[in-house]
Amino acid sequence: MVAIVVVRALSQESLQPGAEEAVHLEVDTAALARRFAQAITYPTISNQDRSDLDHVAFLGLHDHFAASYPLVHEQLVLEKVNDLSLLYTWHGRDPALAPVLLMGHQDVVPVIPGTENDWLQPPFGGVIEDGVVWGRGALDDKSSVVAILEATELLLAEGFQPERTIYLAFGHDEEVGGPEGAGRIAELFEERGIGPFAFVLDEGGAIADGMIPGVQGKVAIVGIAEKGFISLELKVEGDGGHSSAPPEHTNIGILAAAIGKLENDQFAPRLDGASLEMFRYLTPEMPFAGKAVLANLWLFKPIVVRLMLGDQMTAAMVRTTTAATIFNGGVKDNVLPIDATAVVNFRILPGDTKATLTERVREVIDDDRVQIRDISSSSDPSAVSSPDGPAFAMLGKTLRQVVGDDVLITPYLVVGGTDAKYYSGKSPAVFRFLPIIIGADGMKLAHGTNERVGVDSLAIAVRYMHQFIRNTDELPE
Ligand SMILES: [Zn+2]
Repeated sequence: MVAIVVVRALSQESLQPGAEEAVHLEVDTAALARRFAQAITYPTISNQDRSDLDHVAFLGLHDHFAASYPLVHEQLVLEKVNDLSLLYTWHGRDPALAPVLLMGHQDVVPVIPGTENDWLQPPFGGVIEDGVVWGRGALDDKSSVVAILEATELLLAEGFQPERTIYLAFGHDEEVGGPEGAGRIAELFEERGIGPFAFVLDEGGAIADGMIPGVQGKVAIVGIAEKGFISLELKVEGDGGHSSAPPEHTNIGILAAAIGKLENDQFAPRLDGASLEMFRYLTPEMPFAGKAVLANLWLFKPIVVRLMLGDQMTAAMVRTTTAATIFNGGVKDNVLPIDATAVVNFRILPGDTKATLTERVREVIDDDRVQIRDISSSSDPSAVSSPDGPAFAMLGKTLRQVVGDDVLITPYLVVGGTDAKYYSGKSPAVFRFLPIIIGADGMKLAHGTNERVGVDSLAIAVRYMHQFIRNTDELPE
């Protein structure tokens, strides 16, 4: 057995893309920073209550784009979808070829009440300081939108026209599920008979610097699938009354017990699909000890899964997660609560579905007094795009050309949600990636306090999109 383990560890062949000649593109980083910082100043916030949209902010952002990217607005066809989402059509030379879709979203999450004073720069100030642009949306996701527009403007200035038609789609409600933005745009494509797409590129991956245990240096993590999303409301209704003569279990107690059952009986872990693909790519790059374990999952899988469950971030990659996020009940200390409600948010691992999940939740709670309903813009997990095809290879080649040879690339499972979910099954190649370099703190910055991005990092993203669009000419039909 030891021999098998060693042989398998030593026979791991790298799946990394080969070397490419570097492509240089001059980017005026000062002007880029100014245009980007200006985009940050429009508070295009998606609140939980979607009627609460600041139209003026979105329209201001649109005007800023029109003024900043004149060639894009002269030469591409722009449609506004549900007033606030932007869909640009860049006609290719050969309309018979499958089109490419580049995505991003304009909306941002709110600043969490009470944290305003923790920001070192105002979240919508558009401050540039020491090569860093500060503000809400700097990472998620105005960086994608601006990188795509900047690259397109540069290519148009060069007189470039793509071989295949390229759509740019920037939704306005991604942070609340995206039904009116990306969802509506996906429907429009369907109605017009457009698709399948040769490539769909959205946010959801980055260049992780020193974040993956056992792997040295920078790793481009490319989302090849994303988890599903559902929020179930649990509700217990019944008699109120005086608290001096209570039943053994009040509505609050019944509800609390239900949540306790869900927490104590978690979904079973599973190491497969996109997370397994990640190991396939990273194992050959590890030192011997790592290889010995990960090249021999036939033997060590239970240990690896147990280790992954020990950390919140990696646990999310191997199971459907359970998070009680809202709990309400009771109004006065001496009155029994008439009703109690809670919301539990689940992120669904590919392989499970909304239906199988809801069924299991009912079984685990096993209490008819608890009413269960879906209150979310819920979604099933996406399909898993294969990293073995030409699209993923093109993405890796672009990385080599623009970022260099010292960055590893790996597929992975996006544990959050993106607008790309609306294209599940509408392209064999739905990938989630923008080459912004983030360290361990970067994950917290995206929806957190002091969100910011380095101008150099942003310039890499622009160069990347520029080369990526050029490389779409090389995709097979
Ligand atoms: Zn986002």
